[in-house]
Amino acid sequence: MSLIEEVNSLKEKFKTEASDIRDLKALEQLRVDYLGRKGIISTQFDRMREIPPEERRAFGKTLNEIKNIVSNQLDELKKTLGAIGHKKELLDHTLPGRKDFIGGLHPLTYIMDEIIDIFRGMGFVVETGPEAETAYYNFDALNTPFWHPARDLTDTFYLDLPAEKHKSWLLRTETSPVQIRVMERQKPPIRIIAPGRVYRNDKPDASHSPIFMQVEGLYVDKGVTMADLKGTVLTFYRAIFGPDTETRFRPHFFPFTEPSAEVDVTCIFCKGKGCRVCKKSGWLEMGGSGMVDPNVLEGVGIDSEVYTGWAFGLGIERIAMLKYGVDDIRLFYENDLRFLEQF
Ligand SMILES: [Zn+2]
Repeated sequence: MSLIEEVNSLKEKFKTEASDIRDLKALEQLRVDYLGRKGIISTQFDRMREIPPEERRAFGKTLNEIKNIVSNQLDELKKTLGAIGHKKELLDHTLPGRKDFIGGLHPLTYIMDEIIDIFRGMGFVVETGPEAETAYYNFDALNTPFWHPARDLTDTFYLDLPAEKHKSWLLRTETSPVQIRVMERQKPPIRIIAPGRVYRNDKPDASHSPIFMQVEGLYVDKGVTMADLKGTVLTFYRAIFGPDTETRFRPHFFPFTEPSAEVDVTCIFCKGKGCRVCKKSGWLEMGGSGMVDPNVLEGVGIDSEVYTGWAFGLGIERIAMLKYGVDDIRLFYENDLRFLEQF
């Protein structure tokens, strides 16, 4: 056998030996046997000097090729054995069991579900709409004139800002655009609630968050009156805060409604006697409401001589904070498990 043939036979020898390897320890031994400083391949390199000079080049080349093959196969084997070893670990029956982590609903989701249930019980259907809105749906259609301060940069997150503000895209500042979208495509009777996220350019503090959740309600039909509004709102707050709850309507101004009123409920902490939370008044401010402005109805093609409607809005965080005794709105958005796990 020539030297080259002899060296070539090493390939087969290595393959046979490698096929018997079953663990990482044996693999390491095989590596030392072949690639170690005194290993088979080094020894062969040492034989270069016995070879006639004209054959050395071919011999060296072959030996290098074998060295590469051996080295690559050792790496492959290591990967395979490593994976098997890992599998074995997973099957170790003495290891303690892994506990499932049980997730929960976000407190705002709990409140939202409760609110939706109450209104569904009164025949309202849930409607949703996009969070990125046009200034038309967010302001114009809601009777908010172009000079209104709510349209200001300091209150609204604009997504673009062309010269004419009423043509802009923005993050909706309330869920009212949903009401417009529904009235555009559906004829009365309309009885909907629109829950969802809204955005305002507020600096975060204990009572402000640039993102928060709202529910708005809208009822449009023939002969709908302010009395229906008061009855519905009272029924809702009694369902959410308890049967002793009373409501109070204070005159206010909103572009979307006329007349408009702020809704207060009996302070849930002192039951109306007056305490620190209600600033001794016995009442808590909850949200806005009113009779839908005829301009808004006409704008979506509903005859305001035939139909009337009312609308109201309330903040989910406000209700959650009162019900759960949370004193900082930011806690709902920081996603700290120590807070969330309490619900
Ligand atoms: Zn109070």
